[in-house]
Amino acid sequence: MSQLQDNFGRRFHYLRMSVTDVCNFKCSYCLPDGYHPDGKPKFLDLNEIENLVGAFAEVGTQKIRITGGEPTLRKDFTDIIRVVKANEKISTIATTTNGYRLAKHAKEWFDAGLRRINISVDSLDPRMFYQITGENKFDDVMRGVDAALAAGFERVKINAVLLKGLNDKDLPRFLHWIKHTPIDLRFIELMETGLGRDYFQQHHLAGSDIKSQLLQEGWTLDKAAIDDGPAQNFSHDEFKGRVGLIMPYEKNFCASCNRLRVSAKGKLHLCLFTEHGVELRDLLQQRAQRDELITRLHGQLQTKKETHYLHDGITGITKHLASIGG
Ligand code: SAM
Ligand code: SF4
Repeated sequence: MSQLQDNFGRRFHYLRMSVTDVCNFKCSYCLPDGYHPDGKPKFLDLNEIENLVGAFAEVGTQKIRITGGEPTLRKDFTDIIRVVKANEKISTIATTTNGYRLAKHAKEWFDAGLRRINISVDSLDPRMFYQITGENKFDDVMRGVDAALAAGFERVKINAVLLKGLNDKDLPRFLHWIKHTPIDLRFIELMETGLGRDYFQQHHLAGSDIKSQLLQEGWTLDKAAIDDGPAQNFSHDEFKGRVGLIMPYEKNFCASCNRLRVSAKGKLHLCLFTEHGVELRDLLQQRAQRDELITRLHGQLQTKKETHYLHDGITGITKHLASIGG
């Protein structure tokens, strides 16, 4: 089967698969009022996930990130990892988590086949962590980070959303942490969502400010590796960890796009900023539907736009990233 490719020559070997919209945190930039179910949600089950992974693997997907909501709240989270792992074409299984259940389960997930993990830690100051996430769980999450480091993951990444007026003074503390700890820090520029322009304008901080600071302090920009996607990564001889910047508002951000997203209810999102997903669930019920599903995927890829047009003030606003996994 031919690989998924769009009209701009981009190939898609990376799938972000959301498995739930539910979350137990109330991050001020994502779900400030917490998760509210909309009707009786029914998220993709293991059979649907197996069929989804099977079809994507057939057309070139090699890496799958299991995300959410908070993916680890799924009772069958370990089984989800196993289902993905059972597909030999998938070489990398990753997840993004708020770290809430990590201390207890890091080893179990690693043994099931999980190899990369991104943990969201928006501040190293426990009070600020609480203020941003709405949960007084800093110590639990940090115990989870330690457990992940001990479990043997290929990469432990820490995601922090850059927030003016909240964690913008935290850079020295983060850098101090990775001096002797092999962690990849990832600073993500705040993206505008359905929360509205006010929150965005109040807290958006350009990643380019951090970039200048890093370059001044002797960090150097790494050559992009094939699976880096749109992140810019920096290293420094005196630090064990690395720093990555995700700057979706920068020109050319979309040129290296290598990822597709499927929501927890089975909709394909060609871009984080598209308003509507494309239904896949009707074709996820049986293995025999695979060819039809693949034909739909190829067809949809032809409609993927070159860029998200954020620079032109078109937000394509997603209600919040918990609904399609960030
Ligand atoms: N609950 C998990 C977590 O927080 O790690 C996974 C889902 S969360 C939607 C995935 C990532 O998106 C997190 O690192 C989170 O910080 C980030 N995120 C959420 N809303 C965002 C926004 N408006 N702008 C930038 N990043 C955002
Ligand atoms: Fe939950 Fe993650 Fe959103 Fe925070 S960023 S509210 S942890 S889904």
